[in-house]
Amino acid sequence: AKGNGKGGWQRYQSDLHTAMMQRLEMRTALYEAIEQEQFVLQFQPIVELIDQKITGVEALVRWQHPVRGLLGPYHFVEAAEESGAIVGIGNWVLREALRQFAQWKTEHLDTTLRYVSVNVSVRQFRAAGFADQVRDALAASGARPEWLLLEITESLVLKDADRVLAELKALREIGVRIAIDDFGTGYSSLSYLRQMPVDVLKLDKSFIDDILHSRQQHALVDAIVTLSHNLDLAVVAEGIEEAGQRAALDAMGCRYGQGYHFAKPLWPGDVPAMAEQYEPYP
Ligand code: C2E
Ligand code: CA
Ligand code: CA
Ligand code: CA
Repeated sequence: AKGNGKGGWQRYQSDLHTAMMQRLEMRTALYEAIEQEQFVLQFQPIVELIDQKITGVEALVRWQHPVRGLLGPYHFVEAAEESGAIVGIGNWVLREALRQFAQWKTEHLDTTLRYVSVNVSVRQFRAAGFADQVRDALAASGARPEWLLLEITESLVLKDADRVLAELKALREIGVRIAIDDFGTGYSSLSYLRQMPVDVLKLDKSFIDDILHSRQQHALVDAIVTLSHNLDLAVVAEGIEEAGQRAALDAMGCRYGQGYHFAKPLWPGDVPAMAEQYEPYP
């Protein structure tokens, strides 16, 4: 608020006005950004904990803003979700991730890369014809369905379960796999999730942070890993930053991990070299 003479109410109104204008501007900017192809992808490796061999990559969106420079999702994903722009952004991410991945598979036949993981927002998933979008994106890129892992959140599967279940089944029929992202931050239970066609559980970083310093946290993660395996869910531990965490998770039988300890999100040009430091599967 500006102007010293203004009373509280006027200041409040003017703040509201500013906030509204900012939201409007943001919304316009996001739609322009889609049109002008200002979004770019980085890819973060997902590795086998036992030998750190790369098995997949997660596509992470960034906004190459003409004035503000490279912006991470923190700066715009929430606004994109609110305004609905996330649907267009998400579908672009899906197509671009598959195009890039199919290119890697053709140019590097011996790569250990098996899949690309793509984040799907609630709004994007709930938009009409999401499974069709996936089918189209696969066809356009020539990527095989098993190369795609879709990351959805717990909050999605908890609401309107019947519709979500039908869409998940349609996706499974296409042949793509589903991961629950940030597992543990929501309110779903493993037994509930097991009724859904889900293949992978990504254990949120907040669970991993303390496993070396808290016996309780260690026991909790250990139990989740064991139970997940009994339910035929693969587990990816997120946010591994230290060698000790890798070792502890490996000892629990957790097979996959992701985090700065292995690699930060990479520009596409750096992915193939990273994935070729290892012998391909026999
Ligand atoms: P997420 O899906 O949980 O992705 C992992 C985030 O954690 C990424 O942040 C990644 O850079 C960061 N990260 C990975 N390893 C470590 C680590 O060891 N330590 C720490 N401190 N951080 C680590 P990023 O790229 O900033 O993405 C943030 C969030 O934005 C993502 O969280 C995801 O929810 C969302 N997001 C990113 N790309 C997309 C997208 O294409 N569509 C949608 N709907 N959301 C996206
Ligand atoms: Ca994710
Ligand atoms: Ca996550
Ligand atoms: Ca997270």
